[in-house]
Amino acid sequence: DRSDLAASLRSLDGASYGRYKSLSGSWSVSGLQLEVLRVQADPFAPPSRVRLTVDDAGLPGDLVATADRRRALAAFLLRGLRRTLRGTPVHVDAGGPEVLDRTAGTVREDGVVVVEVGVPFPGPKRRILGREAATLLGETLPAAAREAICAADVDAARTFVETVEDAVALRAALADRGLVAFVADGAVLPRRSGVDDRPLEGATPFGGPPELRVTLTAPNAGEVGGLGVPEGVTLIVGGGYHGKSTLLRALEAGVYDHVPGDGREQVVTRPDAVKLRAEDGRAVIHDDVSAFVAHLPSGEPTDDFSTTNASGSTSQAASTVEAVEAGADVLLIDEDTSATNMMIRDARMQQLIATEPLVPFVERVRPLHAEHGVSTVLVMGGSGDYLGVADTVIMMDAYRASDVTARAHEIAAAGTSRAVEHTGFPAVTPRVVDPRSLDPTAKGKRRVTARGRDTLTFGEDDIDLSAVEQITDRSQVAGIGRALALLGDGVLDGTITLAEGLDLLDAELDRRGLHALLDGRSEDLARPRRHEVAAALNRLRSMRLRRT
Ligand code: ADP
Ligand code: MG
Repeated sequence: DRSDLAASLRSLDGASYGRYKSLSGSWSVSGLQLEVLRVQADPFAPPSRVRLTVDDAGLPGDLVATADRRRALAAFLLRGLRRTLRGTPVHVDAGGPEVLDRTAGTVREDGVVVVEVGVPFPGPKRRILGREAATLLGETLPAAAREAICAADVDAARTFVETVEDAVALRAALADRGLVAFVADGAVLPRRSGVDDRPLEGATPFGGPPELRVTLTAPNAGEVGGLGVPEGVTLIVGGGYHGKSTLLRALEAGVYDHVPGDGREQVVTRPDAVKLRAEDGRAVIHDDVSAFVAHLPSGEPTDDFSTTNASGSTSQAASTVEAVEAGADVLLIDEDTSATNMMIRDARMQQLIATEPLVPFVERVRPLHAEHGVSTVLVMGGSGDYLGVADTVIMMDAYRASDVTARAHEIAAAGTSRAVEHTGFPAVTPRVVDPRSLDPTAKGKRRVTARGRDTLTFGEDDIDLSAVEQITDRSQVAGIGRALALLGDGVLDGTITLAEGLDLLDAELDRRGLHALLDGRSEDLARPRRHEVAAALNRLRSMRLRRT
């Protein structure tokens, strides 16, 4: 390692910006290893990337004992580093309230901590500002790393690690208990706003009904009581503005672990729970939507349906069968974002329209569970059609949950009900994707770029992810992009099904971590779930199937 980064920077003062490139490589700075991984081409390009390796962090061994603990500790340290560097131009990808594997921070089994940050190298007039750069890289950054990592608050770190470990254990306990989700008593579900993820101040803490109360055991917190949402068909009912969607959103987020203080630390959902919604305008590529669409006015086959511009109902039908194909075992649906004609058709409309091609979800939701083991949690305040098909009915009343299953079944039995026209849930035809169609090349260059939370540029395509609601942030979008590229380049081979490819991808990520996604070039990535990878692939307009 070269030893005097600050002196080298000062000697470059006033030189042309491009000479920053000469700093690439490894340095020893205040006892830390500092690597300049990538130097931006000009002052307006995305910041340069710098890696710091701290091998004398001195963290207690129990905090690094398991992979979950190391993931949590890395998240804790990154959040500390972001705090310490606030007010400087250094970017630390510490993320939001979800605790995800991130390339920005890793804790190794031997306790070595590696962080990667974005540093805009100063040079407003395309001239190197040597003294400023020397202070930033030679003093501010290493001092911040020492403060946030070597002098980390060990008690707070332990609380953080134990909180995450408990969430993992609670989530792992769900399947054996026949539950799809768990909401601990006292959890704080609402957020401050649609754009502010922090817990709403003064919120009514969650309290579950005695009939659905379960107690789970967490390794650190011990016995935790709360609402157990059973497998099968669960309805969340209640008046408008009484907290239905807020509960469902907490279940959506429950596939991830949350930081202490978030309010949802002990709200957990099965890892393969997928939020579905209508998304008119999306592309659909060779989906078998025959479970929901009996025939199309154009005469196209419904088991091989493609469109560049789906309607609300066909988009939701497509997303449903795609989720099942990718291995979802819980579907989460909110009436607020659903296509009404996909969800319900009442008795009177059945009488009027004899030729309706859409099979409403209400007819498929029970067989979906009975035949395929896929449970559904559905928010539905506007129609009673589901009362008769629900195993469990939870009512939200002034943010409090009660069990109204018995009353709902009485009402369903007494009322004039709609005629059931369809039975069963036909198996979804597995698709074999042509790996050559997952080509991230555009104008001769590889291009996989997250354009924020909602858009992934992949080769020539811009994939709209705004309706894929369980995506957390831009770094996860970047991870999705890399995962798509990996699927196309080595995982899918034109013979295995998409679901088999996603299994291989998960196995590779479990084995190698995020390194499986980094092909040499370092960037801020967060680990995506298979479901969001599949959702992006399904929205990639250039995707093609392998004809067999
Ligand atoms: P619904 O879907 O039943 O119409 P929402 O879930 O959208 O209702 O909630 C309505 C409003 O109530 C939202 O602004 C939400 O933030 C707020 N809210 C939800 N749960 C709580 C709670 N436990 N305490 C305080 N406010 C809440
Ligand atoms: Mg709502």
